[in-house]
Amino acid sequence: MSDSTPSGASFLWDSAAAPSRPIMTPELFSEEQREIARQARRFSDDEIVPRIAQIESKKSGLVPELLRKAGEIGLLMVDIPAEYGGLGLDKTTSMLIAEQFSVVGSFAVSLGAHTGIGTMPILYFGTPAQKANYLPDLATGKRLAAYALTESSSGSDALAAKTRADRSSDGSHYVLNGTKQFITNAGFADVFTVFAQVGGDKFSAFVVERTSPGLTVGAEEHKLGIRGSSTCPLSFEDVKVPSANLLGEIGKGHRIAFNILNVGRIKLGLGTIGAAKCALEVAARYAKERQQFHKPIGAFGLVAAKLAEMAIGIFVGESMGYRTTGLIDARFAASADEGAHVDAIEEFAVEASIIKVFGSEVLDRCADECVQIHGGYGFIEEYQPERMFRDSRINRIFEGTNEINRLIVPATILKRAMKGQVPLIAHAAVIRDKLAKGQAPPPGEGELGTATQVVDFCKWIATYVLAVAAETYHVNIADEQEILGELSDIISQVYALDTAVARLRQILDGNDEANKAIARDLFAAFAPPAYSFCVHTARHILMDVCDPASLPGHLEAIGKLRIDWPSKVIAAKRRIARAVLEADGYPIRRGW
Ligand SMILES: Cc1cc2nc3c(=O)[nH]c(=O)nc-3n(C[C@H](O)[C@H](O)[C@H](O)COP(=O)(O)OP(=O)(O)OC[C@H]3O[C@@H](n4cnc5c(N)ncnc54)[C@H](O)[C@@H]3O)c2cc1C
Repeated sequence: MSDSTPSGASFLWDSAAAPSRPIMTPELFSEEQREIARQARRFSDDEIVPRIAQIESKKSGLVPELLRKAGEIGLLMVDIPAEYGGLGLDKTTSMLIAEQFSVVGSFAVSLGAHTGIGTMPILYFGTPAQKANYLPDLATGKRLAAYALTESSSGSDALAAKTRADRSSDGSHYVLNGTKQFITNAGFADVFTVFAQVGGDKFSAFVVERTSPGLTVGAEEHKLGIRGSSTCPLSFEDVKVPSANLLGEIGKGHRIAFNILNVGRIKLGLGTIGAAKCALEVAARYAKERQQFHKPIGAFGLVAAKLAEMAIGIFVGESMGYRTTGLIDARFAASADEGAHVDAIEEFAVEASIIKVFGSEVLDRCADECVQIHGGYGFIEEYQPERMFRDSRINRIFEGTNEINRLIVPATILKRAMKGQVPLIAHAAVIRDKLAKGQAPPPGEGELGTATQVVDFCKWIATYVLAVAAETYHVNIADEQEILGELSDIISQVYALDTAVARLRQILDGNDEANKAIARDLFAAFAPPAYSFCVHTARHILMDVCDPASLPGHLEAIGKLRIDWPSKVIAAKRRIARAVLEADGYPIRRGW
């Protein structure tokens, strides 16, 4: 199975015209996945939503109590293997659950921190004894987990952590000293994954129990959003941690920290898409109800366009998110070995960063437009958009800021290319040659022929400018962050376009006529602006990167292809907005 699984970032060079295998999309969810999603949604609707006010006011003990209740019905154990008391299900199911809880950001973050960054370090890097000790309780919620990486002087620069761990002379334990900052679930977590420098310079991870003498949990932070979630500092004063609680190897803590964040990024990406769906529902209902100038405001073009934009972002983000979980699941299915699972997660690090940035920015736009559609009422605390707007903001900051994640995308591809792990350099040479000869990617077949040609052309452009920038700056490209940021945005649009056309093709091959019509419109409204964005951004990159002598040749190369793509974006958006209003929200039928 893994042999035929596409490799990470291969969307950049594999043609959109000939997918070797279907991509995972919500249309392909199994009945088991749908049933678990329904169960999670019911729990959210019955147990969480009615308690929003109490959660937001930090009613003592409520969030851990609700987490334990979620644990009792199996919602915390999806990723944990059966031998440790879990269900051992796939990543797609795990992400689907995360999406269902996103209506209440505070609870979603608490649950995601427990099942994701809290539990995953032990699941993927724990010894059999550590797993046997902790996972069964984490699976049921009997014990709750947190992840302590950030410190006051090291956030994005996480490996510069100062917390240190010194081995006792008899080797029986480590002594931890230092502080951690902004730790989600710290107010009630029983188990912490704590990163510390062994001997002052070997970045490593430990499982630390709350009851450890010398561990103090500081006061709750007062936050802009997700106010019902717990965020506290931790301090360690001569905390003795048994040597058996070292997680992974000494000096290899970065593998744990970064791979766990990769899973967290996908979860955050799909969680934010779930929250964006909620914002669209709230906005759609209000746009139908609210009358101005004797009409529902949803009938006005500028309001309708906002609803359509929200649905488009959700469609594309959801498609990229589940495509990626499907890729990871295919690799997981090929091997039960946890080492192979970590490799699979690492393989799709580029996609994880793209989804994190894309989802969090879609949500920010949706939350913002939800406020705007509510006019003055959107600004008032008793209306839902006000909380949604505040809650959305954190997602661009944690799990790696969007700046850091933007840098990861091109930097990872270039690093793999330099090591010969991906065929970027050979591929770029072929594309250059073809563009120099005035050749274009061939059109695909059938209804999506032009669309696939456009998507392939965007891939050519992305590869072309990536190669030109790499040749120009060599190892110093890390200092050209503005260029890396723009490259990242083009690569992200390429993944979005490639995924959207693949999903549309699968929907058109299916039997759901209603979904066919709306998916056609979502793609028709998304793809032309995305194509223009790729072309314009590539031109700007070349203008900044190239010297005056070579610039005209480069601009001519990427400007040779003029694809005649008749598109009626406004008409498509109007139909999308009508579908949103009819559906009271996201108009793709999901079947649960
Ligand atoms: C509510 C909340 C919950 C959190 N939960 C957890 C948790 O459970 N566990 C945990 O370990 N941490 C947690 N964090 C911490 C969070 O992950 C960090 O805040 C985040 O990684 C950013 O670090 P920082 O705040 O130190 O900002 P900094 O790293 O100081 O960044 C400040 C700004 O500079 C930019 N910047 C920094 N370095 C670069 C660079 N090289 N290039 C370009 N721009 C750069 C950043 O993008 C940002 O815009 C949480 C934070 C909050 C607010």
